[in-house]
Amino acid sequence: MMLRKEFLTALFLTLAGHSVHANLFFELYPNDLLFGKGNPDLSNGEAPLIKPVQKAFDQMAEAAKKENVTLKIVSGYRSFERQKQIWNTKYSRNQKAGLDPIDNIKKIITFSTLPGTSRHHWGTEVDLIDGSQKEEGDVLLTQKFQGEGPYARLALWMQENASQFGFYLPYTNNKKRKGFSFEPWHYSYAPVSIQMLKAYLKLDLISFLKASEVLGKEVFDIDFISTYIEENVKGINPVLL
Ligand SMILES: [Zn+2]
Repeated sequence: MMLRKEFLTALFLTLAGHSVHANLFFELYPNDLLFGKGNPDLSNGEAPLIKPVQKAFDQMAEAAKKENVTLKIVSGYRSFERQKQIWNTKYSRNQKAGLDPIDNIKKIITFSTLPGTSRHHWGTEVDLIDGSQKEEGDVLLTQKFQGEGPYARLALWMQENASQFGFYLPYTNNKKRKGFSFEPWHYSYAPVSIQMLKAYLKLDLISFLKASEVLGKEVFDIDFISTYIEENVKGINPVLL
């Protein structure tokens, strides 16, 4: 017998792309999951994803494999707690180096997301490399995905094929886009993440952050958060909006 959750997920995916009934969405993905809290229904493995995304990813990986590209996920679901650890470690380090709270936060958000705002919280996002290539040092560097780089073939394959499986780059190379820099390794599963973003944008991020243990939270007022949402959260590939 199909479990209720699986039934809802199947129904949700059938409806995704149309306007999904708010109650159905909320039952599958309550607010705390959108902030990276709670216990989402994840796939097994080193870099888990929510199950419908894993399923679509596996189909894409199989197609890539036939053309000798090995899609290896180096980062999938990431919890609020994990993102908070990353953030607070960087914040403390910058603070010791003498940065004031605003400069400290500006420095961190050039490369890291504010805890509670990472798309990786949703289980719909993957950071990918080509598993058939050598892994040396920091793998997620733009130049490794271009020209003679080890992951250039993967980048090309994804560029040509990912959309057929529902995956798109949020952080494109478009110079007019604000927010995070170009990330040729980061793909989002649109049929679910578009709905997640819609629901996410209705949440009260300021109250959530104020109640958290995120360092520097005194800076997160209306002005800061609305600019952050406009540029960093919504500063993505328009097909994912
Ligand atoms: Zn990523």
